Amino acid sequence: MTTYDFTEIDGEIEQGEAEFIEMLQKLLRQKSISHTGEGMEECAEAVRLLLEQEGFRTTVYRPGAYPIVYGEIAASGQATDAPTVLLYGHYDVMPPDPLSEWTSDPFEPQIRDGKIYARGAGDNKGQFLAHILAVRSYLKLHGGLPINLKILIEGEEETGSPSLADFVANHRELLKADLVYTSDGPKHASGAPVILLGVRGALSVRVTSKGAAWDNHSGNKGNIVPNPVWPLVSLLHGMRSDDGKVQVEGFYDGIPQVSEADAEALRRLPFDLDDLKRQVGHDGIRMDGETYYRRLSLEPTFNVFGLHAGGRDKGIIPAVAEAYLDVRLVSGQDPLDIYTKLERHVKKHAPDIGIERIMSVPPSKTPIDLPIIRKVIRTVTEACALEPVVQPAMGGTLPDYVWTSVLGAPSVIVPYAPYDEANHSPNENTGIADFLEGIRCTYHLIRRLGESLDGEKE
Ligand SMILES: [Zn+2]
Repeated sequence: MTTYDFTEIDGEIEQGEAEFIEMLQKLLRQKSISHTGEGMEECAEAVRLLLEQEGFRTTVYRPGAYPIVYGEIAASGQATDAPTVLLYGHYDVMPPDPLSEWTSDPFEPQIRDGKIYARGAGDNKGQFLAHILAVRSYLKLHGGLPINLKILIEGEEETGSPSLADFVANHRELLKADLVYTSDGPKHASGAPVILLGVRGALSVRVTSKGAAWDNHSGNKGNIVPNPVWPLVSLLHGMRSDDGKVQVEGFYDGIPQVSEADAEALRRLPFDLDDLKRQVGHDGIRMDGETYYRRLSLEPTFNVFGLHAGGRDKGIIPAVAEAYLDVRLVSGQDPLDIYTKLERHVKKHAPDIGIERIMSVPPSKTPIDLPIIRKVIRTVTEACALEPVVQPAMGGTLPDYVWTSVLGAPSVIVPYAPYDEANHSPNENTGIADFLEGIRCTYHLIRRLGESLDGEKE
């Protein structure tokens, strides 16, 4: 691995700081609320202009309600085998309400105690602008990029990215990349950077058991009319053993063994059992950090999140009983396949009970030991003052599969906003230091990925 002067970007940032902050404030003044449509077209155009001004060749696509702004810069000169990185971000923001809880106007950014307060400061304008400013600084210092850089900034993230998967499927050649790099979400509570290599998927279903055409009196019709609660409870009971193993045939098929590299990463994650107990409000939890993170990110869940029949104060035989289940899926599990298996289970054990799919999102996972991922981890470690928290996958669900499955590229999420960014809440903010550190981080990423990947195989 070649070495270079690691401080070369610091002078640029110091010199440019005031202008960078002014650029962020300008972007934050432009409303872009995808839930209502307010300012969306204007913001997309502002982002396109910004990209053009910083040297990107841009195209605007309209696959859904709001534009996707796309830009690219090819590697300069002799770098024919240069890797391609796709940066992803979103220019839409959440509605600002409740307005009365904001200390300052959500669309008139204010700086207080080293933080910029405005809707979108953290989620996601401050984060994708850091990428753009890193490119600007790189071009200023070196005249060209050592990698091919693509950037996709969409306007429907806060409404669930309804057009993204199809857009990516229809533009595989355009978006083709060796790495997809997303900066969204918050850093770790300790201030350390987070590197996220996957997410759990989700599948939710409704299971419906029907009895008579209407509720009947439990005395007058008791022992006469069947109660749909009993077959439902018995079905649910048979789906899971007492020690938590899911009894649906084939449920665990295809889930890979936890790799040594993942297990090692899990062991290094910060864990505080007492803090966890406080966070969840349950005293009985007994486990170590590795078990906690393994269960949270690399093992599927099988959860009942709703159960409804009858009421509280009437002696009736309910006409209908319903259960709502959600399954968090891990790498190797496909939501539609799991749904088919659930359907088969219901048909076999309770043929009179109906099942329907409410929603599903596939899981994603990028192997930690890919050379390009090793390089990202090393670069983030170099660029930030603290050792990053590397999570092989996270418990929640994001549409990261769009990159790993639809585009077929490794994907990594490295948040640039502070832990307390208050995204989606009143007084959303980002730290000026976090914003500038993001610029530094993307700058080093461009620099390091421009070097050969030899020597990253450990
Ligand atoms: Zn958001």
